[in-house]
Amino acid sequence: MTVTPVSLDDARIISISQVDSWLTCERKWLFSYGFLKQSSSPSRSLSLGVLVHDILAEFYKAIQNGMSVADARQESMGRLTKLFLEGTYSVDTFSMAQILVSRYIEQDTLATGTKILAVEEPFFIPIVQGSYWYGGKIDLLVEALQGHKKGQVLLIDHKTTYDFYTDNALKLNPQMPKYTAAVRFNGYPVDDAYLNQIRTRFSLTQIPKKADSDLFKRAPTDITQPKVRSALHHQMVASEQIIAAYKKPLTLLEQECLPVQNNMVCKNCPFQEPCIRMEEGMSADKALGTGYVEKTSGFQLEAKAPENG
Ligand code: SF4
Repeated sequence: MTVTPVSLDDARIISISQVDSWLTCERKWLFSYGFLKQSSSPSRSLSLGVLVHDILAEFYKAIQNGMSVADARQESMGRLTKLFLEGTYSVDTFSMAQILVSRYIEQDTLATGTKILAVEEPFFIPIVQGSYWYGGKIDLLVEALQGHKKGQVLLIDHKTTYDFYTDNALKLNPQMPKYTAAVRFNGYPVDDAYLNQIRTRFSLTQIPKKADSDLFKRAPTDITQPKVRSALHHQMVASEQIIAAYKKPLTLLEQECLPVQNNMVCKNCPFQEPCIRMEEGMSADKALGTGYVEKTSGFQLEAKAPENG
């Protein structure tokens, strides 16, 4: 099975991540996609998630290129060491990633029970004729070689998570139906999408005493055609709202992008400090201060930020 690359020409992209941000909290979106800023000191959970994704991508790319599991494991640990030596991650983050990924590889069945079709590849689908597309980078796409799913194409999203998702949280996951639509648009008949959960709640000393089932869980999100249609609808409506927002000056968006101020949402937000300063009357650019740098994550083709004025 091969992918036919889709020509994007000069189309602009609204990413699945950007829509998530917009729907989570418009002020958070404003900081991230309006002012194009990210925290200069990301949280431990975010850093660990990024590092684990990076190492797993290295592992599965090596498998895709024909390496044995042992050699791919060696390759991925080499990547981990290289990133550590570059000083990108703290000792604690490095140690957690090392122990979790090592344990993960020992119990993994994807490397030997599937054919790897794509690793860390972006997929796109048009949302506004001729101009806007939406896209997302998928972690892993595989074809099952054995078991009751033999011959089926499965989408896998790695998730580092404090606790495993509940059944309803899996069914409510907004990303997997959108990724499924984009991957199907590019010719892969995706059957179902899975969250490949890696639990981060245990300390370095607790992990060796835990069973694999305490640490890892790959669970289906039960993709159906109505769910895919519904997710596409949400993506389109939110994208059109974002496109309309991009036409407004930042000063107006500061007034219009309301803060959700919900504890469940805010507790993981990297923009808590500037958000509090804005509540005290400070303008957004002053409130951002020095703790934030130019945003580097996301698609290069992402739609342009609004005019400053
Ligand atoms: S702290 Fe809460 S209200 Fe403020 S930007 Fe973040 S998510 Fe929105």
